[in-house]
Amino acid sequence: MLRCEGATLDYGSYRALSGVTMHVDKGELVVMLGANGAGKSSLFLAISGLRKLKAGSIRLGDHELAGRKPSQIVADGLVHCPEGRKLFPGMSVHKNLMLGAYVHRRDPEGSKAILERVFEMFPILREKQHQNAGSLSGGQQQMVAIGRALMGRPKVLLLDEPSLGLAPLVVKQVLAAVKAINEAGTTVLLAEQNAYAALKIAHRAYVIENGRIVMEGDPDALLGDERIRKAYIGA
Ligand code: ATP
Repeated sequence: MLRCEGATLDYGSYRALSGVTMHVDKGELVVMLGANGAGKSSLFLAISGLRKLKAGSIRLGDHELAGRKPSQIVADGLVHCPEGRKLFPGMSVHKNLMLGAYVHRRDPEGSKAILERVFEMFPILREKQHQNAGSLSGGQQQMVAIGRALMGRPKVLLLDEPSLGLAPLVVKQVLAAVKAINEAGTTVLLAEQNAYAALKIAHRAYVIENGRIVMEGDPDALLGDERIRKAYIGA
């Protein structure tokens, strides 16, 4: 469903991605593990059209994404929930959520139905929908960010570090929501620092180091790999 081949990305003279080849099949939940600065966000930014590749290709189904505008890529069915949430703190939760539905503004009824599903998934957001997003807790703000991404009606959802900075119990809730979104039919590519928790919900995983994919496998194999355990799980 999503396929990167030889994806190479530079920031000036610094090469952030070196020939990244990876794929996510329809219905999969794939985890991208990597330390700070390994290139996860750069890969996600390239996939969603926010950074231009130096070389390589990114395909969504039969469509080449490289060269398409981010808004067209969202309309194609790929939505990116960025690291750090990037909400509008002075706007209400409801307005933040509805921003995610902008590409579907000609179908307000459809968006209303999806908003209802978001509120079913995160009931606290229904309660707080008229409050400013900036007044919510970190975990609740992350729910808004995920909800806003869902309003874009993704076939493929990129989630960049959704549990960053959250308390362990909240991390659990957020990752349970990610699993539920995937089980409801959305293909997910997840970047996570909480490697153990992420591998527990994933179908497959990649490890990225210095802009290169260095390992791919099923989660149990990675959990059983001593190098992975030492580097990412701390055991
Ligand atoms: P993190 O979880 O810390 O965001 P990451 O795996 O997502 O890590 P990236 O943000 O993709 O890593 O960064 C990859 C490398 O590219 C890092 O060395 C980073 O310093 C560098 N980098 C990222 N953005 C820029 C930029 N705008 N200009 C120059 N270098 C950048």
